[in-house]
Amino acid sequence: MSEQDATFPKLNEAQIARLLPFGEKITKEAGEILFDQGDAQHGVFVVLEGSVGFELIPDVLTRGMFTGEVNQLSGRRSLVRCQAREKSTVLEISRANLQRVVQDDAELSEIMLRAFLLRRAHLIQNAVGDAVLIGSSHSADTLRLQGFLSRNGHPHTYLDVERDPDTQTVLDQFAIPLTDIPVLICRGTLVLRNPSNAEAAECFGLNAGIDEQSVYDLMVVGAGPSGLAAAVYGASEGLSVLVIETNAPGGQAGSSSRIENYLGFPTGISGQELAGRAFVQAEKFGAKIAIARSARKLACLKTPYAVELDDGVAVRARSVIVAAGVQYRKPDLPNLGQFEGAGVYYGATAVEARLCGDENIAIVGGGNSAGQAAVFLSAHARHVYLMVRGPGLASTMSRYLISRIEASREITLMTWTEIEALEGGAQLERVHWRNKQTGEAGVYDIPHVFLMTGACPNTQWLEGCLALDDKQFIRTGAEVGGEWPLKRSPYLLETSLPGVFAVGDVRAGSMKRVAAAVGEGSMAVQFVHKVLAE
Ligand SMILES: Cc1cc2nc3c(=O)[nH]c(=O)nc-3n(C[C@H](O)[C@H](O)[C@H](O)COP(=O)(O)OP(=O)(O)OC[C@H]3O[C@@H](n4cnc5c(N)ncnc54)[C@H](O)[C@@H]3O)c2cc1C
Repeated sequence: MSEQDATFPKLNEAQIARLLPFGEKITKEAGEILFDQGDAQHGVFVVLEGSVGFELIPDVLTRGMFTGEVNQLSGRRSLVRCQAREKSTVLEISRANLQRVVQDDAELSEIMLRAFLLRRAHLIQNAVGDAVLIGSSHSADTLRLQGFLSRNGHPHTYLDVERDPDTQTVLDQFAIPLTDIPVLICRGTLVLRNPSNAEAAECFGLNAGIDEQSVYDLMVVGAGPSGLAAAVYGASEGLSVLVIETNAPGGQAGSSSRIENYLGFPTGISGQELAGRAFVQAEKFGAKIAIARSARKLACLKTPYAVELDDGVAVRARSVIVAAGVQYRKPDLPNLGQFEGAGVYYGATAVEARLCGDENIAIVGGGNSAGQAAVFLSAHARHVYLMVRGPGLASTMSRYLISRIEASREITLMTWTEIEALEGGAQLERVHWRNKQTGEAGVYDIPHVFLMTGACPNTQWLEGCLALDDKQFIRTGAEVGGEWPLKRSPYLLETSLPGVFAVGDVRAGSMKRVAAAVGEGSMAVQFVHKVLAE
């Protein structure tokens, strides 16, 4: 089957007949709108007679073809307008019924979900959608918003004030002074001046509402690989699941250009693609995922536990899985903050790679994430300096990455080396380094530095509710210690608070690998069932 056929498949008569009980037949006159850009309430339309088409997309749908992309599963706003090309009869399948179809009918589920994912990829590739970002490659907030939209798979057009001559016209059209950038134009009309991620999510309708009255069976904090795995298993096994994520699905893995050691992907998969698929999978089973929302506090003195979010909303749940992962450790450089997003980065995805152009870059760190970044960015930058504090990479990096680094003429390994100072104006320009063994020092013209120097756990918000180890990772199972309040022993992955579990990188003693995180997130759900039955 060609990609075009998979993107716009034609259901056969038997498949159409299976869908008929799930929908309502509607007749539309030529030119009548089935749904508009920004609408969120409609379902998926299957064409029964006539034809329908989209604004900005050349394809026309005829009998057996259907509308929809990943937004239809989550109830997010539509990115395009769809109109009848002639007098047509369509079958509208509501979102609730669509979820029943994709859960119960394996054949239709495969056809529809594959089409939805391919259509989203097509929209992203062609920047078809409801978002225009106007920014500057020297602005940290521009990079933040670009990263937020990309990592959430939200198609957008990017206009750079320094590089794009048409930008001024757009700015004039909306009466925006240059001083207000980055600007996000949302759904063609709303102009957001340097919005927060939460404001952008709100404007594009990326979050379905959180039900504050409900007590969820399971609340998952963090949508990295471990949290998404918990959501998929929990929701597929009938639990009501709410996932809260500060930034975007994927966590650290989402900032990886290529994961090559995750089972089942022999040629590797980008962290973002893996996360995108897991996100759709979790939504297919009915998990609710709220992005750009953070857990600020765990109210742990009475059950059901409540997780307080950054806007003060408290959400109650009978069990909680903490899957909050880790964040990068920052070196002690006085002006680091000045260059974050303007020459200093903590992830190496296509967004950052585009910024490197034909310039020198430095990567700091000797772990696998630094190795992957070096190999990936060597295809984009002029030259890569890989700086490590120790004598080499052998004890910290996988052999396959070391071999590629050794074989590359674009990568220079600098051992025993530390960055001593950063220098520049609005953008980083130079890096001062020193070899701690020989004392040799130097200054290189390096406008882009990628810091990949280990990580600390995201556990500050737990405020004494759970037993932590001396590095602030969460203790679980037999490691919980003397604080356990029940007669039964804690289950594997259960924290010092009954019914609260910790999985993935945030857990003391975890493996810090995607496969381990996914395994733990999936396993924890088995223990959640036991707790809910107690
Ligand atoms: C660049 C890079 C490359 C890597 N490559 C590989 C590889 O090739 N193979 C491999 O096996 N591993 C790799 N890893 C490691 C792997 O990505 C991690 O082990 C894995 O992502 C851990 O998953 P997690 O779900 O436990 O945590 P994370 O991925 O850290 O996800 C945690 C999530 O929780 C969210 N969060 C944190 N606090 C809160 C809060 N208070 N409220 C709401 N949300 C919150 C965060 O925003 C984040 O999205 C790589 C890591 C990096 C950084």
